[in-house]
Amino acid sequence: MAEQESLPLAGKRAVITGASKGIGRSIARAYARSGADIVAVGRATGELETLAEEVRALGSRYLPLVCDVTDAEQVQAMAARTLEEYGGVEILVNNAGMAASHKFSDHPDELWHQIIATNLTSVYYVTKAFTPAMIEQGAGRIIMIASVAAKAGGRYIAAYTASKHGVLGLTRALASELVGSNITVNAICPGYVDTPMTQASIENITNHTFMSAERARETLERTNPQGRLIAPEEVANVALFLALDASGGITGQAINVDGGALMY
Ligand code: NDP
Repeated sequence: MAEQESLPLAGKRAVITGASKGIGRSIARAYARSGADIVAVGRATGELETLAEEVRALGSRYLPLVCDVTDAEQVQAMAARTLEEYGGVEILVNNAGMAASHKFSDHPDELWHQIIATNLTSVYYVTKAFTPAMIEQGAGRIIMIASVAAKAGGRYIAAYTASKHGVLGLTRALASELVGSNITVNAICPGYVDTPMTQASIENITNHTFMSAERARETLERTNPQGRLIAPEEVANVALFLALDASGGITGQAINVDGGALMY
């Protein structure tokens, strides 16, 4: 226990949306390893359960909450349960998201609304549900997993790009509004990360072109000047850094983790 207390996030309570897989799961692991108690939010019950074993083995408390973050009522219930069980929250990571591509000229409206709801409106609901507790505590860290698509446009991803630009706008607005409450709000902007989401993008390319899965993966790797996919742990590392007490002077920022693809 003494060892646990000396860890950088000891005594912190962290809510991570989309913790069942990919980047969110890596962040949950990194935070637990650093001593934080974890609230893991997602829809896949089985994956949230397998994460329980890992987190508890590290000595952290673990609360899995099944919640569709596009549903305001479910989000309110999830936040109420979190605050009831843990009594407060110091760190919120808005990571849950989806990706889909479509040519703009015949873009289905339903897909547009689904992407905006999942990637942007959910961030509004979840953040709104937790900020009163953070304001009352007089401290907090809010971290958005945005994307390089929050800063640059790309073909066939209009809705995704619009949603992530929206997340960055929300980050900056909240950073200004919450500055007096000692709450920092920052975004992380990764390039292609080696997760189930990117695996689905590879499958999408192979289904719509004559490319093999290997070629499709190489195409995505080449979007990074380092010629590789980013590992989810690299994103988790930045999320850990932003969550530290020592990072309190950083707010309203958007940090790229993309091998130098964007330099702004
Ligand atoms: P994955 O598809 O691997 O995981 C997505 C996570 O989001 C899952 O845990 C999923 O949970 C959760 N999620 C999705 N929709 C909902 C919902 N409606 N309610 C609750 N949870 C939901 O994605 P990644 O890990 O790759 O991506 C994580 C974030 O990082 C996303 O916001 C994505 O846009 C962003 N990003 C990803 C990049 C990449 O190349 N992979 C690059 C840049 C940014 P469940 O399945 O349990 O519902």
